[in-house]
Amino acid sequence: MKLIENSFIPNYFQLPSTASKTIIIESEDDYKEIDSNYPHIVIGEGSNLILPKFINAQIIKLGFKEINHQNTTIEVSGAVTWAELIDYSLKNNLYGLENLTAIPGLATAAPVQNIGAYGVQISEFIQSVVCWDLESNKFIHLSNDDCAFSYRRSLFQSNKSLIIHKVCLQLNDTFKPNLTYKSIQEFLMKNSINGEDLSPAKLSSVIADIRSQRLPNPQLSPNVGSFFKNPTISSDTFHQLKGNYPEIPHWSDEHGFKISAGWLISMISNELESNNLELFVNNNLVIINEGCTYEELLKFVSSIQSKVSTKFGIKLEVEPEIIT
Ligand SMILES: Cc1cc2nc3c(=O)[nH]c(=O)nc-3n(C[C@H](O)[C@H](O)[C@H](O)COP(=O)(O)OP(=O)(O)OC[C@H]3O[C@@H](n4cnc5c(N)ncnc54)[C@H](O)[C@@H]3O)c2cc1C
Repeated sequence: MKLIENSFIPNYFQLPSTASKTIIIESEDDYKEIDSNYPHIVIGEGSNLILPKFINAQIIKLGFKEINHQNTTIEVSGAVTWAELIDYSLKNNLYGLENLTAIPGLATAAPVQNIGAYGVQISEFIQSVVCWDLESNKFIHLSNDDCAFSYRRSLFQSNKSLIIHKVCLQLNDTFKPNLTYKSIQEFLMKNSINGEDLSPAKLSSVIADIRSQRLPNPQLSPNVGSFFKNPTISSDTFHQLKGNYPEIPHWSDEHGFKISAGWLISMISNELESNNLELFVNNNLVIINEGCTYEELLKFVSSIQSKVSTKFGIKLEVEPEIIT
């Protein structure tokens, strides 16, 4: 185990943030040395976190990396990035993750908010998750059902005693592309690509291209991707809203109607006052840090939520974790 004192915590939103103690876990035995009586935060790459100036907790980071597979099951642990996992799966002819290409972060952080994009969620492939449990001080094995996955949700958001050590994914050995998403179909049509001829690597690069137009590069324009979840509303509320706004972008799923949070924000964006912050012009779901403070960001976020609530009666839920 490595201990670092008073260190800056890198994060994609690029807010200056320091913690008095950072612990790097370098082997399975190191977990036992964590002082579970002291508050902690597990941090991967910090691509889905909003951090305050001083963090009053020990930071836990995974410092080892391992990835291997047997037949169609991939096991990935520690600090392997999601991008490395996608590369590994493509090189080993294991399919299913192509639509999740170019999502930042670590593979061990991916189950936390059940990452998803273009009609695919990681929960469709998770067989089991191995965690170090800070309550019992031992490893526990969770099945897919135990993880309580739903849209951008999982058990790991409420049970903070669990440190995800390893994720086991069951992939496919035959390629069945999921091209149902409208933006994929539009891209294929615009670029005269026949969906039938797509290889897994080509689909992965198509997704990377689509994303590069929809999301600003976090290195140049600090951001954490989508800042709000797309709200799910009842059929009654949806039909009322559609009566007033026939153009409202929407999808239906087993829980009701999902509507575009980006569209809701675009409808109130001219009422917003932003100090050192900007909504990304191609996608209003993304907030860009232009030198703001933590407090300015929280004020901006709450102003977006209150204006959307006043205009549409809909509560927007924040997607990244905001550490207080
Ligand atoms: C440009 C951009 C685009 C994005 N696009 C998408 C997208 O399309 N779909 C999507 O779902 N997300 C997207 N995200 C969000 C983000 O990439 C994911 O949430 C990612 O899984 C976070 O990984 P991370 O390693 O950065 O985790 P962090 O941001 O460091 O942590 C995120 C959460 O996971 C917890 N955590 C991290 N590691 C562990 C662990 N080992 N055990 C227990 N808890 C842990 C943290 O405490 C925190 O609560 C995007 C972000 C950016 C910046």
